[in-house]
Amino acid sequence: MTVSKDIFCSFCSKNKQDTNLLIAGNSAHICDLCIEKAHLIVKTDHSSNTKSENFQLLKPQVIKKHLDQYIIGQDQAKKVISVSVYNHYKRISQSDFVDESVEIEKSNIIMVGGTGTGKTLIARSIAKILNVPFCIADATVLTEAGYVGEDVESILTRLLQAADYDLKKAQNGIVFIDEVDKIARKSDNPSITRDVSGEGVQQAMLKLLEGTIVNVPPQGGRKHPDQKMIALDTKNILFISGGAFSGIENKISTRLNARSIGFKSNNDKNINREHILQYISPQDLKSFGLIPELIGRMPVVTYLNPLDKKALRLILTNPKNALIKQYKKLFEIDGIILEFDDEALDLIVEKAVEYKLGARGLRSICEAIMLDAMYNFPSYVKKRKLNITISYINKQLENQSFKKLKVA
Ligand code: ADP
Repeated sequence: MTVSKDIFCSFCSKNKQDTNLLIAGNSAHICDLCIEKAHLIVKTDHSSNTKSENFQLLKPQVIKKHLDQYIIGQDQAKKVISVSVYNHYKRISQSDFVDESVEIEKSNIIMVGGTGTGKTLIARSIAKILNVPFCIADATVLTEAGYVGEDVESILTRLLQAADYDLKKAQNGIVFIDEVDKIARKSDNPSITRDVSGEGVQQAMLKLLEGTIVNVPPQGGRKHPDQKMIALDTKNILFISGGAFSGIENKISTRLNARSIGFKSNNDKNINREHILQYISPQDLKSFGLIPELIGRMPVVTYLNPLDKKALRLILTNPKNALIKQYKKLFEIDGIILEFDDEALDLIVEKAVEYKLGARGLRSICEAIMLDAMYNFPSYVKKRKLNITISYINKQLENQSFKKLKVA
């Protein structure tokens, strides 16, 4: 007769006592850990065998129109990105029939623009429109393999998770690498000493960007000898990177000046010094400290304009999921009609500008203004309408927590 403690997993031979759960079959047993492993293997295998390219190949003008619903202004960036995204996915969908003599290269993108101008929003919206997995990686936490921090491969773990471990989908996804300017090398000279967080990371990123098979730890973290790795091909992953590149305007200016002196031309007159970012070129990124190999692998360079008052005002009310629309919806669910005076909206914008908070700040300001109402109104039985006026906002501004928002 079999005693229960002699029952063991038929796959890993673990004794029943050492497992959380042991499921019995006709003549075999399987423990909880082996079930999990088997599940992962089946899922990965299944996804790499199914040819389900779920993304939609939309024309550039259609992509741009979709982007217009979510992103105010930034027309040039939206246009450039719509074209390169279209080319990228066209390249993937045609890859089976490619004429060997012409190889369409990847069109990874660099977006240069101040914080809160819509870089992440554009990348996220593109992924949403195309129905492909999307993840954001912060370049500042990446380090060269072997150093404290995250390996560059960890970026792909996140993409795999966003694709719900569907390998095929992940391999057609979009990765947004934020703050790519922070891994610029500190001086223009190639490093003599090791530059763990800067040039080293740029070097480590090269292979990912270009297209290679990367062994990705499915649960993230450091690579571990016992961990089962998932082999992921980055050939068709679109990398969009963004950064503020603060001070790059000087590099652009210097280059433009040198050019106009060199040619003794009147070109300078045509240069719009106020919006110098529009002349950004790969050369400026190199002067800033990105290595030429990395720039070469992100051949599409575009810029985002700083947001002026007019743009901020539109951001509050116009996009598909504009903040004001969201608050109205939240109140509506409780049966409360919420209205904002035009002057009140102008004041919110003015505060965002005054507090140097940009578009990201609109949310914090609105939260501060709306807190009391969101706290009290659901309990009121009679008051079913709230009109936000200038004086209501000013009253809320006296609240201490709001003043803390101010950027020094
Ligand atoms: P960053 O350029 O730093 O990546 P984000 O894209 O994260 O900025 O923008 C922060 C927030 O500000 C977004 O979630 C969005 O609500 C708002 N925002 C910024 N720029 C725009 C824009 N051009 N149009 C609409 N909303 C914007």
